[in-house]
Amino acid sequence: MQLLEDRIRRDGLVKEGNVLKVDNFLNHQMDIELFNEMGKEFRRLFPQKEINKILTIEASGIGIACVAAQYFHVPVVFAKKSQSINIDGSVYCTKIESFTHKRVYDVIVSKKYIGKDDHVLIIDDFLANGCAVNGLIELVQSAGATVEGVGIAIEKGFQEGGKLLRGKGLHVESLAIVDSMDASTGEIVFRSQN
Ligand code: 5GP
Repeated sequence: MQLLEDRIRRDGLVKEGNVLKVDNFLNHQMDIELFNEMGKEFRRLFPQKEINKILTIEASGIGIACVAAQYFHVPVVFAKKSQSINIDGSVYCTKIESFTHKRVYDVIVSKKYIGKDDHVLIIDDFLANGCAVNGLIELVQSAGATVEGVGIAIEKGFQEGGKLLRGKGLHVESLAIVDSMDASTGEIVFRSQN
C-alpha cells in the first residue's frame, strides 16, 4: 500500500535489533486518516462475507483493528496480556513471547467473546517472527472457531513469520512488506506488491 510505504519512509526509524519505530503515526501517536485507508484496504483484501469478528492483541493492534472494523461491520475482540497466573475456566489462554520486550506473556480471551461459530479475521500492527499471530491463532482454534485470514500493517519480510504462516496455508495480507532495513543508513527497502 503506497500510502503506508511513503509514510514509513518519511517517519519510520530503523533501530538496532531489527526494530522499526513508527511511533509517530502508528504505535504511539496514531494517524487515524491513514488507519482509515488501511481499514478500507483490509476490506478489499478480505472480502469474505463470513467474517463476523476481528481479533487483535493489546495494545498496538487495537486502534488499527477498530478503524478497520467499521468496514467489516463486526465487533473487535482484543486478547489481553494477563499478569495473573490464576487463569480460571472462563478464558482461552496461550503464551506469547514479545518481540520488542523479550518476555513471555499469558494472553487471554474470554470464552464469552469467541466461539465455534465465529469466522475471525486476525489483525495486528507488525509481523516479525509470528509469535503474536500464532498465539492468536491458537486462541481461535481453542474456541473451535475459524481463522479467515491474517491482516498485518507492516510485515518484516526478512523475518520468519510470514513464511511460516503462509506455509500453513493461511491467507495472510500485509499492507507493507519490508524486505530489508539498515540501522546505520536508515534505508528501508519494500517488496513490490500488486
Ligand atoms: P512477532 O510476534 O511476529 O515476532 O512480532 C510481532 C509483534 O511484536 C507485534 O505485535 C509488534 O507489537 C511487535 N513488533 C515486532 N517487530 C516490531 C518492530 O520492528 N517495530 C515495532 N514497533 N513493533 C514490532
